[in-house]
Amino acid sequence: MNLKDHIRGIPDFPKPGILFYDISPLLAHAEAWQVAIERLADAIRPHKPDLLVGIESRGFLVAAPLALTLGTGFVMVRKHGKLPGDKVAHSYDLEYGTDTIEIQSDAVKPGQRVVVLDDLLATGGTMAAAIRLLQQVGADVRAAAFLIELNFLQGRDRIGVPATSLMAYD
Ligand code: IMP
Repeated sequence: MNLKDHIRGIPDFPKPGILFYDISPLLAHAEAWQVAIERLADAIRPHKPDLLVGIESRGFLVAAPLALTLGTGFVMVRKHGKLPGDKVAHSYDLEYGTDTIEIQSDAVKPGQRVVVLDDLLATGGTMAAAIRLLQQVGADVRAAAFLIELNFLQGRDRIGVPATSLMAYD
């Protein structure tokens, strides 16, 4: 099955000149979505994760079913102010300004093996920040995995752990 048949490119979203890859048709197609999750599970299994981490918000859609498939726990990395209780935060630079992501302090035990999931790898800034945050709380980050990778932005060179993706665009 060609999973790209279920990805829609939307021009000029969210800004003029940007081609946005929309995964909604993939999520809406039961068989294709199941194939995508199975293929990612096969790629992630050799890393033997204790936990899968999803990055808000589309990373949750990928990580949660994968965690059930692989029999691991699922942990959320969220934008500032969304998680209750004790948290650890990490701020990182954007093109204009900064952003902060958070994880609950007790979500990962030191030394636990984790794989981090997001829907799409572009510049790698989001994933690199999530990995730094996880390393701050003592996680052993084994890999990052994505549905889609934008090759021309070379994001995988920025994240410092092995990267896996199911679909690449040049
Ligand atoms: P990066 O930090 O530049 O790698 O951007 C990746 C983040 O932006 C991910 O969390 C994606 O969900 C989001 N993103 C960037 N471009 C797209 C796109 O074309 N489709 C869907 N999400 C995107």
